Amino acid sequence: MSGSHHTRYCVGSRGVGYGWSMRCHVCEATDTRVVDSRGAESGEAIRRRRECATCGSRFTTFERVEDAPLVVIKRDGKRTPFSTDKLVRGMASAATGRPIESETFAEIASSIEEQVKASGGQVTSDFIGLAVLDHLRRLDEVAALRFASVYKDFNSVSDFEQELTLIKHETAPDSASEVEISLN
Ligand SMILES: [Zn+2]
Repeated sequence: MSGSHHTRYCVGSRGVGYGWSMRCHVCEATDTRVVDSRGAESGEAIRRRRECATCGSRFTTFERVEDAPLVVIKRDGKRTPFSTDKLVRGMASAATGRPIESETFAEIASSIEEQVKASGGQVTSDFIGLAVLDHLRRLDEVAALRFASVYKDFNSVSDFEQELTLIKHETAPDSASEVEISLN
């Protein structure tokens, strides 16, 4: 091995609050130099000795590649952590009394989680709503309609009508008549 061949780690690139690890703990300058690197016990973490370019203080950081949290951005701009549990509860509630195995919801939720990861880890609530509907539509149109009508962030009438059109297109005309639809 020759020279200073530093592996660059992307630490929490999608997360927040990781910047502290590179900052000088004495003067808070951000320009710090790595003077020594070695793997920590887990192999995934790396221990680094850094020196501040401004005040010369030395300090150690443990840098670790972490799974950045998946984030759902609501229509009002608020950000909330993606939760498969929440999705499962929402689907189960929409499918009350319908012939769908409960494990199916967990499978759908984890498949949507993969979609969120594949989309860069941050998606809109509409993305989630449409993804759930896409799955439910193929399983049970009644549950899909209920989900569309109660899903809080999926309340735009045009989106909903679009879903109705898709569902009607794929199912028998009388199949959804037993559901009471309320657009609140
Ligand atoms: Zn400093």
